[in-house]
Amino acid sequence: DGSAGSGDGATTESWTYAAFDRRVDGVAAGLENAVFGPDCDHDAEARLGVLVGTRVAFAAVYFAAMRRGVTVAPLNVRETADELRSKADRLDLDGLVCSSTTAELATEITDGPIVSVDDSGHDAVDSLRPDRVTDLQPVELERDRTHLLMFTSGTTGEPKAVRLTVGNLLASAIGSAFRLGVLPDDRWLCCLPMYHMGGLAPLVRSTLYGTTTVIQRSFDPEETARIIETNGITGVSLVPTMCRRLLEAGWTPPETLRFVLLGGAPASRDLIERCRDRGVPVHPTYGMTETASQIATARPADAVERPGTVGRALVTTDVSIVDEEGNPVGTGEVGEVVVSGPTVSPGYLDDDRTVSAVDERGLHTGDMASRDESGRLWVHDRRSDRIVTGGENVDPDEVREALRSHSAVAEAAVVGLADEEWGERVSALVVLESSRRSTGENARERRAIESILEHCKERLASFKRPKTVGFAGSIPRTPSGTVDRDLVRRRLLADGV
Ligand code: ATP
Ligand code: MG
Repeated sequence: DGSAGSGDGATTESWTYAAFDRRVDGVAAGLENAVFGPDCDHDAEARLGVLVGTRVAFAAVYFAAMRRGVTVAPLNVRETADELRSKADRLDLDGLVCSSTTAELATEITDGPIVSVDDSGHDAVDSLRPDRVTDLQPVELERDRTHLLMFTSGTTGEPKAVRLTVGNLLASAIGSAFRLGVLPDDRWLCCLPMYHMGGLAPLVRSTLYGTTTVIQRSFDPEETARIIETNGITGVSLVPTMCRRLLEAGWTPPETLRFVLLGGAPASRDLIERCRDRGVPVHPTYGMTETASQIATARPADAVERPGTVGRALVTTDVSIVDEEGNPVGTGEVGEVVVSGPTVSPGYLDDDRTVSAVDERGLHTGDMASRDESGRLWVHDRRSDRIVTGGENVDPDEVREALRSHSAVAEAAVVGLADEEWGERVSALVVLESSRRSTGENARERRAIESILEHCKERLASFKRPKTVGFAGSIPRTPSGTVDRDLVRRRLLADGV
């Protein structure tokens, strides 16, 4: 008795699994007609780009493609035509599905077949002419079949297209359900973009769990809180910034809510403590596109007793933490996270990237972490974020924590800036408690510098102390919530600090 609704106030619709199944059949038939044609060889990989926002139409297209063994490539509806065109070229798409809001953009990014679905309340699929195809059989889905081509967030460079198989998605669903204790009567709210794994995962998993999925087109603190309350939502996936905004809007969760998954970026201690105080059942997670979402997930008890941990690895994921030579590090020591097991992608679309990321131990995540005596993981920063200054290695996380322990500092981001003398110099962009809502010139900011640098002196070796400090009203972040280091660097350089 599952249903999916686009609860943005204006339009709400709901579907039982049986009704949705028929609709998916219709869309599958329509796609066959408009894109793939009767002679389409489904043993060869057919690729469908999906440029549709977070809405029921996305779900219908997604499951229709799955039914026909077509590989789905969700595209970011917020990107520019140029960015999308370069992605479409790399993907070598056989067809593209758009909605009425993205129809114009779609014509700018591909010369191939384009199919438009209606994204109003009743997503009509008339243009797909389902009537012209009859007797469409579902394709047998093999575990190793590539089912998704999912782009990473592009935090460290150009986004990578990750191959995810049916088996990867199945394993990640099982691992997550095992940790959380998901039940068929759970109701999961999707309000994250579906072109990222964290947003898509709940939808993909719902059909395996038999849970109800509620789709909200875009996050909005008041509206999201209302939907959680009135729909008896038991689970929701958020990025930390969304959770912060809910709390700032005065939200207290209803008793029905059992899981608030936080992912995509680190959840700060401060946020976890505020969740604890409000009774938010918070589950910090650590994951990546290449593992079809979570690698580790903490339960609320662990999360609030040990703010900062992301919990133990899921049963379906093997994690080792290794040093520069690839040898496992000891308990409590920081090294690179290497993951293996059935959730791990077979590789990237560009094979050379796979070769540099995977060895016999598994996939090198580029993330630095440690593991405590109970097996809980603590994620630090990315390997590529380590600052090398005067030949010394600096963990930006350690510097950021030192800055944040100053009472005037609300948030901070620490990066290396090119420096003739030192190679890189430790640099910090700081958000003061007093300037959260203001940007630019602030006399208090200048006075704060001295006090902050003095504070660092007591806590950090001289080579770790920020040589330059800039101020901002907020820390620039990527859409998935990770610190946008490139922008931080540019902001610092623009300030002439
Ligand atoms: P790209 O690979 O293109 O540089 P990306 O790694 O940001 O981009 P995603 O796959 O969306 O793309 O994000 C996964 C990454 O997000 C992880 O590798 C990790 O660096 C970061 N991350 C996710 N969860 C956490 C967490 N709980 N704490 C710290 N970092 C996290
Ligand atoms: Mg990555």
